[in-house]
Amino acid sequence: DTAIVWFRRDLRVRDQPTFLAAGTCEHVVGVFVLDPALLGPAGAARRRFLFGCLRELDTALGGRLLLLSGDPAVEIPRLASALQAHTVHVAGDHGPYGKGRDEAVRRSLGPRTRLVVTGSPYAVAPGRVRTADGRRFTVFTPFSRVWRAHGWRAPAETDAATVRWADPGTLDLGGVPLPHDPPCDADLPEPGEAAALRTWREFLRDRASGYGSTRNRPDLDATSRMSPYLRFGCVHPRTLLADLGRHDGPFTTELAWRDFYAEVLDRRPDSARHNHDRTFDALSVDTGPDARRRFALWCEGRTGYPVVDAGMRQLRAEAWMHNRVRMITASFLVKDLHLPWQWGARHFMTHLVDGDLAANQHGWQWVAGCGTDAAPYVRVFNPTLQAERFDPDGDYVRRHVPELRGLTGKAAHHPPAGLAPDYPLPVVDHDTERREALTRYNALTGH
Ligand code: FAD
Repeated sequence: DTAIVWFRRDLRVRDQPTFLAAGTCEHVVGVFVLDPALLGPAGAARRRFLFGCLRELDTALGGRLLLLSGDPAVEIPRLASALQAHTVHVAGDHGPYGKGRDEAVRRSLGPRTRLVVTGSPYAVAPGRVRTADGRRFTVFTPFSRVWRAHGWRAPAETDAATVRWADPGTLDLGGVPLPHDPPCDADLPEPGEAAALRTWREFLRDRASGYGSTRNRPDLDATSRMSPYLRFGCVHPRTLLADLGRHDGPFTTELAWRDFYAEVLDRRPDSARHNHDRTFDALSVDTGPDARRRFALWCEGRTGYPVVDAGMRQLRAEAWMHNRVRMITASFLVKDLHLPWQWGARHFMTHLVDGDLAANQHGWQWVAGCGTDAAPYVRVFNPTLQAERFDPDGDYVRRHVPELRGLTGKAAHHPPAGLAPDYPLPVVDHDTERREALTRYNALTGH
């Protein structure tokens, strides 16, 4: 009796419910499929981090992780038939591509093989949290209330030994070696489950108690940095929630946002590309040659707005950006440069090591005001005031923008003419563009 555990966004052995589902089988083959459709759009940082996670997972399985390359709808059925496996175990995937892929795999598996879905990458799987009359939520706050009341399971007690792994090396299954790591200039976190658990324990020990008051400060190392690990399932959010216990603070709310955006994407797959609120399709945006020039300056971190530039350079240097600065840079692209949010979202997805379709596309739409919550689109972030409030001594800006290192304290947020000669002049005037944004937004609603 042979079963397959097909890993996707769950590159770990602890708290791994698919192992419980496959546990009674005599032989289990663990497989990951290198799918060009997913690897293609991921930038070097995400591919490199993924390969590292796969290396760690392979080690945890005693060198018995099978790697295949190609279309999973071809590769998985071929493997199941070669092994005469009755079951293929997976954790649910709720993104538009994943759902279509899993449907195609299900159709291509012979009548003797079942695709068994156990669990999801979320504390509560999309579709579970509903209003009293069974409808799905479109607004975060009521969702998060019902999400908390719904609760989540305790972590599954598994490790690599839960399952009897077959050694794919002894079978002719078409396995491929892991590709070489793509070159990447960014300084990446250590990949894999052990690093995830270590990062989490350090956060609990050193930073969790101050998180509520410092999480908005990009100059401090105050957040958990768990996003890449959650993205690839090196740790399940259930494990984090169990460690937090009844301490239901702001960190739990952030995990609720993560589940909420997965819920939105599951309900409205089109919102990965288009405005969730289609009223905003009529918003006037700039796309001509001058818009492209401004976009290039934004990507390079050369807008002349120090906190925006620091954020965009942090993205290149670390393949990660602080949440507050993601909001500031996104707002600048949408409301000061009047560019389509999709341009910025694509740039983030290419460079972020934690790039996640649900969180990214909806984070962008929250800022642009066209997302789920009736966001006050009339609120335009003032990058300088944001910077003075959340980077009060200018340390974050100086860390990422060397041209401004000669300026002390807050002066880094508004470089006086002549004192930072290598630093670019502002690409636009914020007050002028703020008024322009309001005019364009108000045209939508007839105000
Ligand atoms: P912490 O503050 O320690 O939060 C803990 C965890 O909660 C995070 O790891 C993440 O999994 C989750 N979380 C926190 N905030 C959010 C949020 N607003 N939405 C969804 N989940 C959240 N997050 C991604 O994981 N991938 C993305 O591609 C992504 N793109 C974003 C784009 C924009 C424009 C914005 C405004 C936010 C985006 N976020 C994204 C959310 C957030 O910025 C990151 O999750 C966070 O900065 C990661 O750092 P951390 O792990 O230290 O966060």
